[in-house]
Amino acid sequence: MNAIFPAFHEADALPRALEAASPSIRRILDNALAGIEVSREDGQKLFETQGADLTAVLRTADAVRRKRVGDRVTFVTVRNINFTNVCYMACQFCNFGVRKDAASAELLSLDQVASRAVEAWNRGGTEVCIQGGLHPDIPAEHYRNLILAVKAQLPDIHIHAFSPFEIWYGVKKSRLPLHDYLRDLKACGLGSMPGTAAEILDTEIRLQLTRNKLSADEWEKIIRAAHEVGIRTTATIMYGHIDGPAHWAAHIDRIRSIQKDTGGFTEFVPLGFIHDETRLYRDHKQARPGPTEQENLKMHAVARLMLAGHIDNIQVSWVKLGPEMAQTMLSCGANDLGGTLMNESISRAAGASHGQEITAAEMVRIIRAAGRIPIQRNTLYGVVEDFSDHDPVEIAPLVERKCSSKTSAFLDRIAAQIPGATA
Ligand code: SF4
Repeated sequence: MNAIFPAFHEADALPRALEAASPSIRRILDNALAGIEVSREDGQKLFETQGADLTAVLRTADAVRRKRVGDRVTFVTVRNINFTNVCYMACQFCNFGVRKDAASAELLSLDQVASRAVEAWNRGGTEVCIQGGLHPDIPAEHYRNLILAVKAQLPDIHIHAFSPFEIWYGVKKSRLPLHDYLRDLKACGLGSMPGTAAEILDTEIRLQLTRNKLSADEWEKIIRAAHEVGIRTTATIMYGHIDGPAHWAAHIDRIRSIQKDTGGFTEFVPLGFIHDETRLYRDHKQARPGPTEQENLKMHAVARLMLAGHIDNIQVSWVKLGPEMAQTMLSCGANDLGGTLMNESISRAAGASHGQEITAAEMVRIIRAAGRIPIQRNTLYGVVEDFSDHDPVEIAPLVERKCSSKTSAFLDRIAAQIPGATA
């Protein structure tokens, strides 16, 4: 049934992999399979594995994924709306934000944001993801006005918006207490928040990524406050720059601790660093050109193992890794392919070359080719449509696809290989 990942479906793949692993790694993996929590220290050891030990980590993550969430793989139809690229923060790893006098500076009006949302809704979108830079001139009430403008047109669309950094900025501008500010956004119609701007929750690393950025403690404070007022968020990590296994294990451990207290995270989203156009890679001697393939595998697998029973949705970002590598991650712990996006522009600005959209029909084919069951979900992981026995309507991408030849060859190959459910 699965031509692309036969090894993962061999009945004895996991026992053989465990047998070949070293005793210390085997102990950690046996515990994980028995439902015993993987400690931060053991998580770090798993991130440091190579060879047979690494194979055992990946097989175990796949087994734990199956046990926790089964064979369904989810995706959400969403449009990214980046309402401004103007930002005064100048984070080293970001090539999206520009100064307000730059030729490429853009600030969409409230009407433009609302009409992009309507366009997304008419293409089957259930969510808009609204984020932007920290524009120095936006008024204190801009974030609430964005929500109200979209909701006036589309009362039923889910608005997933504003990173903790934008919330910090809105609080600063409005001078409202944090919880009151969040309650107001929720009353306006904010459905959930992206847990972006986390990068690595480590003070030293963050100071090198951006001097003035929200501290790890402030990020956690805003996330906890959001959960306390009933706004759920995602959790993210940006890895593959000046970081390493100790930072990754500590980051996931911190996310897990928050989840134990609040239960407010919907999913964990590893975001590989895209280096091409960034000052971090150009100017920082220790900066690496993004994660290696092995690091991508480990990140999804170890996250699955450390977060099992706490955050059971591990998302893979096709924007960062490309759809082919994203598909591989589905056999190493991931169970969610993220969003169709329609208008991705942040990673593209940093040099990502995988296009701005993967349509619902393409999502379904990628999932089927991995031998799994495609499910369209809503933002909070409710089932919108089960595509196990039929196909989504084929639609062209919203904007003309410009992606690498590797990405388009993969999508063409999948389209040729994978028959529709009714074929
Ligand atoms: S990461 Fe966000 S805050 Fe930092 S420069 Fe880019 S847009 Fe601004």
